[in-house]
Amino acid sequence: MQIDVKCSKYASRIEGASLRPVMVHEQVETPAFVYQEAAIRDALLAMHAVIGDSGCRLLYPLKPFSRANGLRFMRPYIDGFSVSSAFEAAFARTILGKRGTVHLTTPGMCPADLAGMVANCDFVAFNSLSQWDHFRDAFERHASCGLRLNPQLPVVLDDRYNPCRAHSKLGVPLDALTERVAHGDFSMQGLAGLHLHTNCDSGDFGVLADTIEHVEGKLEHVLDSVEWVNLGGGYLAEQAEHVDRFRSAVGRLRKRFGVEVFIEPGASTVRAAGQFVTTVVDLFESEGVTVAVLDTTVNHLPEVFEYQFQPEVVGHQPEHPHAYLLAGSSCLAGDMFGTYRFDRRLEIGTRLILPNAGAYTLVKSHRFNGINLPTIYCVRENGDIQIEQRFTYEDYLNHNGVCDDASV
Ligand SMILES: *Cc1c(COP(=O)(O)O)cnc(C)c1O
Repeated sequence: MQIDVKCSKYASRIEGASLRPVMVHEQVETPAFVYQEAAIRDALLAMHAVIGDSGCRLLYPLKPFSRANGLRFMRPYIDGFSVSSAFEAAFARTILGKRGTVHLTTPGMCPADLAGMVANCDFVAFNSLSQWDHFRDAFERHASCGLRLNPQLPVVLDDRYNPCRAHSKLGVPLDALTERVAHGDFSMQGLAGLHLHTNCDSGDFGVLADTIEHVEGKLEHVLDSVEWVNLGGGYLAEQAEHVDRFRSAVGRLRKRFGVEVFIEPGASTVRAAGQFVTTVVDLFESEGVTVAVLDTTVNHLPEVFEYQFQPEVVGHQPEHPHAYLLAGSSCLAGDMFGTYRFDRRLEIGTRLILPNAGAYTLVKSHRFNGINLPTIYCVRENGDIQIEQRFTYEDYLNHNGVCDDASV
């Protein structure tokens, strides 16, 4: 797929983070998760601009954001979906029909999930040699089967996100594969592809070029016999650097080994497209600091707590005079977003916007304390705002094992 990019590199950021929400945020009921189709489109076009004429195919992994409407919107811009479970595989197939391919990799394949995975996946990268032995026959004639490789070239410093960490559970270690192949313990018969995913939130496509070169150097004979290489995700189009090296590495892979090459960036596609809108529900002093309690919680944006980072808030500047400790409304003492400074005083009822919240938020949010999930809005490509889903007390009851309201 070849798409001309006419928008500037920063178009999606400007629209996603500052212009549109001013218009949108007064209209929604909070807490709200608002996503914008135009920003998804711009992010996909930006990734196509990075890919250029290298011939790399673009997939979207359902993992960071999986709204049905958003996924349907992506279809013209992508070649397929990547999935990590039986549910994602079935969902991806439903959205795509026959208009694209479904690519699976998971460390947790088990017999209970097998039938659904076989029915819905076109490409499968087994996570280990034992999974290859156990499950490959079941996929034969249904999917193109490969292995997830751990290239053993760590590029992420934080081990929580590092698929090449010591004793990694993600992929067949490169040295184990070369050893097995060299000793004739692993037949490459039927091995159609390799999958590697080693980075996280990086704009440096030169690192991906290095990883490709590293694998080429060690697995030449394996690459000679496969049909596809999936380069995983973890790279951001908006901050792309060393794009030429990436394109030439992809071009070389395709030419030298005759393989089809895929990339499956998640966060890059959806992060700028999502905003969180929240309202201040209480303000008080706590030992010299003004606490602003919000009608949301870190459980709506769980990575804030998991990874202890401070999310962006529109209007915050370090030099502004009015400081607030923004806190979530659950009973957890650590349910806090951090200290932010504004040019005006916050009041009860003031709305705040957390931009760039499209990735790994909704998919991880939960109802701890019985606090409802955010209401979900979609800003359609033509600018219309639609309420997409409002969660109810019935949903909460259902989640807690009550199927019929009357039976509580
Ligand atoms: C998480 C993941 C992705 C997407 O990663 P992003 O950091 O969101 O781009 C792609 N492929 C695999 C195998 C993954 O585990």
